[in-house]
Amino acid sequence: MKAQFIQALPVLEKLEAAGFEAYFVGGAVRDFLLGRKISDVDIATSAFPEEVKTIFARTYDTGIKHGTVTVSEGGEHYEVTTFRTEGTYTDFRRPEEVTFIRSLKEDLLRRDFTMNAIAMDRHFAFHDPFQGQEAIKAKSITAVGDPKARFHEDALRMMRAVRFLSQLDFTLEEKTARALAEEISLLAHVSVERVTVEWLKLHRGKAFSRAVQMIAEVGMEAYLPGLSGKKTALFELSSWTLPEAASDELLWLLLMVATKPADVKTALKAWRLPNRTIKQVAAAYAFLMDEEQWTKWHLYQAGRALFTLIEDGRLVVTGQNEYAACLLAYEALPIHSRSELQVTGHDLLAWSGKSGGPWLSETLLRVEQAVVDGRLPNEKPEIRRWLGYGENES
Ligand code: ATP
Ligand code: MG
Repeated sequence: MKAQFIQALPVLEKLEAAGFEAYFVGGAVRDFLLGRKISDVDIATSAFPEEVKTIFARTYDTGIKHGTVTVSEGGEHYEVTTFRTEGTYTDFRRPEEVTFIRSLKEDLLRRDFTMNAIAMDRHFAFHDPFQGQEAIKAKSITAVGDPKARFHEDALRMMRAVRFLSQLDFTLEEKTARALAEEISLLAHVSVERVTVEWLKLHRGKAFSRAVQMIAEVGMEAYLPGLSGKKTALFELSSWTLPEAASDELLWLLLMVATKPADVKTALKAWRLPNRTIKQVAAAYAFLMDEEQWTKWHLYQAGRALFTLIEDGRLVVTGQNEYAACLLAYEALPIHSRSELQVTGHDLLAWSGKSGGPWLSETLLRVEQAVVDGRLPNEKPEIRRWLGYGENES
């Protein structure tokens, strides 16, 4: 873990050599203190973006408006962000405009929770004006400053609080918890995309059940897409054990199974999901809800990804599934896609002497079904005979 910081040290050293301050900040420092796996090592500096760009050979303007320059150093990429305040907040959202400053303490002051407001210098010494280390020891999610004011500035922080509760298995500090319960309606102002990101992270946390229960207890569901009035469903969701490496699709499928919306596609669209996810989850949901039995044809039509999703969902909801049997049956199928079929529309036209029409795709479908079912070998002459066309003409 420490190795990731050591590898990033040249970034701090170069910024300091140029006369600026630079620190490791944010989630990486928090996770380091917790002994958790570190995702990205983020760096904060007193250098302004244009100054950062003159210090490093290779930089990318990834978030220049917010003061972030991505720096390439030792084969790694680091986000280097200028100390900043977030100026005025309007509409309870994060502001578009930020003000660059030269003071570390003020930069830490704008951060959401004390555990996320710790800086670490290149000697591994901590700069922790808000006692973030103590909060981490106490497993406490504590807002920096007045929690109500902080939630007013950016209502997403309430969702982040619950997400961190889930990921870290922490609890909310008393004032922070009270502010969250009181200000929850501000969540209505947050963009769905940001909510969706936190919602997924929350599902992969070790205290997922407790997090979802808290959502229901404080009434946060009223501000989550399609979840208004679904408290009981959320308690059911919270009672399930989710696999650690659950795919996004599985998480959405489980939400649908718990909440049973009138129209699944509309419910998923409300979370602004990619169309491909919506299609797959809706198909999986329909199959699960119909309590259909797998047939060879179903498995063939579903394909591996979809039947795996369906059976993964079944396992979470009922405690058992038919995945192993499905996989065996699927692998034993004579073909796995229409392109493997030994006849084409051209063959049918030639054999029949007829011209094209709806009969063509209907016939192909009949052949495909018979082959998949194992009623007809996937061989040209056999198929031809089966269709009742003479054998010797080509
Ligand atoms: P993760 O492990 O999920 O990346 P993180 O704490 O690093 O968690 P990021 O979203 O990467 O979260 O943000 C990096 C840091 O920026 C945070 O640790 C926090 O200091 C600050 N931050 C992020 N979002 C907000 C916000 N909405 N309000 C205030 N500070 C924030
Ligand atoms: Mg991060």
